[in-house]
Amino acid sequence: MTFNDFISIPSVVRIKKGAIDRLGIYLARPQFTKVSFFYSPGIDSIIDRARLSLKDNNITILDELLITDASFEHASELFTHLSSDCHACIGIGGGKALDVARYVSFLANKPFYSVPTALSNDSFCSPQSSLTVGGKRRSLPSKQPYAVVVDTQICLDCPDIIWFAGIGDLMGKVSAIVDWKMAFHAVNTPVNDLAALLSDATVFQFMACPERTLEGIKILATALMMNGVAMEIAGSSRPASGSEHLISHALDRISRKPRMHGLQVGVATYVCSLLQKQTNDRLGELFEKIGFWDFIAQEPFSTSEWTEAIQLAPSIKNHYYTVLSSRDCVPEFLELVKTNKYLKRCFS
Ligand SMILES: [Zn+2]
Repeated sequence: MTFNDFISIPSVVRIKKGAIDRLGIYLARPQFTKVSFFYSPGIDSIIDRARLSLKDNNITILDELLITDASFEHASELFTHLSSDCHACIGIGGGKALDVARYVSFLANKPFYSVPTALSNDSFCSPQSSLTVGGKRRSLPSKQPYAVVVDTQICLDCPDIIWFAGIGDLMGKVSAIVDWKMAFHAVNTPVNDLAALLSDATVFQFMACPERTLEGIKILATALMMNGVAMEIAGSSRPASGSEHLISHALDRISRKPRMHGLQVGVATYVCSLLQKQTNDRLGELFEKIGFWDFIAQEPFSTSEWTEAIQLAPSIKNHYYTVLSSRDCVPEFLELVKTNKYLKRCFS
């Protein structure tokens, strides 16, 4: 039985329009006046606004690091050169900058400020860092951010694909929680009820307001963040990751051209919910309402690659029982692709 006797969750959460211009205030209040600053390329105007806010609040940037390499080797190297008197590490931008900043702050035992500029998945509030080790992607134990700062206007201005990917990753919980309960009954995998409830709640919260507005972005960001908290409470990735994530990981390995994580997860969630015999079609209807199916149908997935991925998925993680472990699901998948009104538009 896993038991988490120390739970680390964000203390500062600011999800609002213009939050980037207040970053300096969020650092000055707890007196983090010397910081190391990790950021992604291609977001110069956002970085300029963050720098200005820090300057206005008398925050000194000791290290300023443009992150293009999300490897364990690079992060370790940055850690050895980190200014010893820095009070906090800030990561601004996409996955790589956040993963590297999170890992360096974990090694240095400094508070981490997670400032995502796009909401394409739930990794901005995660207890793990996704880095390559020797060229292979690994999830390394790390620490939850001390602060999560999301500027909802910046995220609202992102392209369609980011919006759909973020929703796809969030909806993964629809199948992940059922897999977790199946694993409990099949192989006695421990379930943390509070973490499962929290994950479920995030999905329903978003389903109540699936709008691409500042308010909808705020709900999406909060929901994705709470999945990270649920993982921390459970001490495992079970609340946020089940069969749908195994299929996505398998696709990343075998696809000629893997698609964005949340798009793969979103479609896989729907497939897996049907394999799990979930009878409520709220997910299919939600995806129809927001235009997710239409977006996927513009560039359909390959049925043969997905067949291979569904076969490979159960072996991706050791001791991780899901619906895909319960039987050979390929014949049912092939039938669904032919007959399901949504899926037949999304596969070729
Ligand atoms: Zn995910």
